[in-house]
Amino acid sequence: MREIYLDNNATTKVDEAVFEEMRPYFCELYGNPSSMHFFGGQVQGKVVEARNRVAGLLGASPEEIIFTACGTESDNTAIRSTLEVLPNRRHVITSRVEHPAVLTQCRNLIQKGYRVTEIGVDGEGRLNMDEYRAAVDDDTAIVSLMWANNETGVIFPVEEAAALARDKGALFHTDAVQAVGKIPIDMSSSVVDMLSISGHKLHAPKGIGVLYVRRGTPFRPFLVGGHQEKSRRAGTENAAAIIALGKACELAAAHMPFENNQVKAMRDRLQESLLAAIPHSRINGGGAERLPNTLSIAFEFVEGESILMLLSELGICASSGSACTSGSLEPSHVLRAMGVPFTCAHGSIRFSLSRYTTEAEIDGVIRELPPIIERLRQMSPFGREFLKAQA
Ligand code: PLP
Repeated sequence: MREIYLDNNATTKVDEAVFEEMRPYFCELYGNPSSMHFFGGQVQGKVVEARNRVAGLLGASPEEIIFTACGTESDNTAIRSTLEVLPNRRHVITSRVEHPAVLTQCRNLIQKGYRVTEIGVDGEGRLNMDEYRAAVDDDTAIVSLMWANNETGVIFPVEEAAALARDKGALFHTDAVQAVGKIPIDMSSSVVDMLSISGHKLHAPKGIGVLYVRRGTPFRPFLVGGHQEKSRRAGTENAAAIIALGKACELAAAHMPFENNQVKAMRDRLQESLLAAIPHSRINGGGAERLPNTLSIAFEFVEGESILMLLSELGICASSGSACTSGSLEPSHVLRAMGVPFTCAHGSIRFSLSRYTTEAEIDGVIRELPPIIERLRQMSPFGREFLKAQA
């Protein structure tokens, strides 16, 4: 069965050119980039090139790039580091809709005596800026707010939030795992102090991430040991994956217009066609500024998990909320924070497109999904009531 892969916010296909770039660094050029000999040196040269390429996508300086193992490590490092460098500040701010990589860590800090404020969002998933303005104070060590939400694609005003944090002497971190490669980001004109990236969300392999740390930002490493990454992240560099990420960032910059025009147009067509074909459907975050590739859509009186199973039987891959929370029967914490009614939150699914998505694949979903929803509504007691009322 040929798959229709519309789950790119969970992970992406490794670009063939990215794979070719990393291929020699397993069996041929496998030297340790820290070695003194020529064999390690040639790998080191490619790591330098990769660092430049990542910095290029972000408008950053190469020395502001720290390679990590994943987005989760980058998020954890940013928060832990700040609490160590600002020990007298005991307040942490985040939002209710963060990825668990941030939210779980912040909630764990409560047991350690920190005051943690989770800023709410409105019905469209937009950050409550009044609540944020009132929360940030002289005791705040770090604010960690995501650039774009993985479930709805809703974009937060991180620059405005970062400026407010800076006014209070707090550091500002953003989880930009879903934003980097999809929308332009320019750290040279930004006041954000730290930013997380994950390779597997932008057509590089799994197991590679980046923490951007602005020059001059006080920092303590999370992993200590060797002197890799200028002693900011110990552990032998995953050279092949770093080289792959460098190439992926270069390609992401080149494909940015395609992402924001063609991919967005396909997402919009999918959205409008499904809304027109399926009664009692609504877009989660549809009124907010969103990533060009993400569509979170709710169908009343059906179970998201059942929709996903039936789509999967037809080779269509989508998701209900985050890959990390699927499997639990609770509606996603993001949709709950947005106040999406229970009947809608349960029947929400996310389609996330990429530059590999085709018009034919979108046609496939537009054709297959409406009868699936109708069938499921006929099977459920609530759905039958609903269909009777419609008749
Ligand atoms: N942050 C966001 C917004 C994500 O979507 C994800 C992955 O789904 C992560 C962090 C975690 O990244 P990684 O899988 O590289 O640890």
